[in-house]
Amino acid sequence: MIEAIDLDKCTGCGICDDVCPADVIYMEPVETPDVVDGMHRAKSLPVIKYQQHCVTCFNCELFCPEGIVDVHPSVKNRPRPW
Ligand code: SF4
Ligand code: SF4
Repeated sequence: MIEAIDLDKCTGCGICDDVCPADVIYMEPVETPDVVDGMHRAKSLPVIKYQQHCVTCFNCELFCPEGIVDVHPSVKNRPRPW
């Protein structure tokens, strides 16, 4: 089951949301500290919204370009599909 996403390192690319077959992860807008024209720039970050629906397929962990999604049981040494 998905356990955590290290949002401090997240770029907001949305791949984890796209590759999840169980619709567990949702991208939701948040304000960033960056100020442009007097307004905080917004970006979207992933939220583990329906953790109980996770089928432990590891897609989000495998496809996250930053390697910051943690799915348990962790199978770090298995062959990657590429
Ligand atoms: S392990 Fe699979 S089902 Fe679970 S959140 Fe990640 S992509 Fe979705
Ligand atoms: S795939 Fe990784 S970097 Fe991209 S939004 Fe998801 S957690 Fe963040």
